[in-house]
Amino acid sequence: MVKAEIIDGKAFAASLRGRISEFVSTLKAEHGLMPGLAVVLVGEDPASQVYVRNKNKALVEAGMNGFEHVLPTETTQDDLIDLIDKLNHDAAVHGILVQLPLPEHIEEQAVIDTIASEKDADGFHVVNTGRLVTGGTAIAPCTPLGCLMLLRDRFGDLSGKEAVVVGRSNIVGKPMAQLLLDANCTVTICHSRTVDLPAVCRRGDILVAAVGLAEMIRGDWIKPGAVVIDVGINRVPKLGEHGKTRLVGDVAFDEAQGVAGAITPVPGGVGPMTIACLLANTVTAACWQCGIEPPSF
Ligand code: NDP
Repeated sequence: MVKAEIIDGKAFAASLRGRISEFVSTLKAEHGLMPGLAVVLVGEDPASQVYVRNKNKALVEAGMNGFEHVLPTETTQDDLIDLIDKLNHDAAVHGILVQLPLPEHIEEQAVIDTIASEKDADGFHVVNTGRLVTGGTAIAPCTPLGCLMLLRDRFGDLSGKEAVVVGRSNIVGKPMAQLLLDANCTVTICHSRTVDLPAVCRRGDILVAAVGLAEMIRGDWIKPGAVVIDVGINRVPKLGEHGKTRLVGDVAFDEAQGVAGAITPVPGGVGPMTIACLLANTVTAACWQCGIEPPSF
């Protein structure tokens, strides 16, 4: 049995971060510009704390400024918005990211929409969402952008490919579908009410899984030779090791490997691309704010 090629997102992200770091050196030398990202964390969610730490580490490694703001869980929405307002007016801050999820008493989209759209490093602001859909100059959400880069690296031109996206969230599924449409794919978006999901998935030359259900997509749902991008990150118990867990994607990897042409692993596929694209978005935002042409990473 021929096994699918493993798409090494970790290696791709490392090379992307290398290119970003080189460009940041040029920005500093030629324009005196040091791109900076403010990361705002409200509360003590352990997973969010890890994400924020990793983002700051990546910023430092790329030679960029990281401004960390850690606020207590009981922070009011008004106080959070006051902080964002200050960051909007801070010339050293080119990108702002509010780590999600926020505590329940805070309305997420209202907070995100107070970020100046040109500093919206995550690409979740309603203006960037609108521009993405209408074909304007937009900051695209990091995870789908990373998936697109992996697909472009493999296929080059994506024109005419049948792309099936499973999941329609605002942060992954919908922007992923939009980016694939912009790349001239024929796109189908699936969700929890899709009828005969396996048959729809089997149509995809490209299959993107962004559901959040461990190993839901089975090998026989995949078109032979398809490229499978597994966005899912799910923690499941480790068999035979009481209390221990491991990460799996939304795709049953071992089964898929016998059918697909190429597949991203979990971990080490899409995950590392998300942080690399956050750095890329911050650099792009800094360039736009300073009238400099950004590179196409
Ligand atoms: P959401 O929970 O916001 O969205 C899940 C989507 O999956 C929904 O559109 C839902 O449909 C759909 N869905 C749920 N059950 C089914 C089903 N049985 N059949 C078909 N579709 C279904 O999740 P996110 O988009 O935020 O995240 C998806 C996954 O990606 C998660 O595992 C998350 O951890 C991971 N993730 C990974 C990132 C990375 O960096 N690698 C970044 C962001 C997310 P409906 O709309 O009908 O409810």
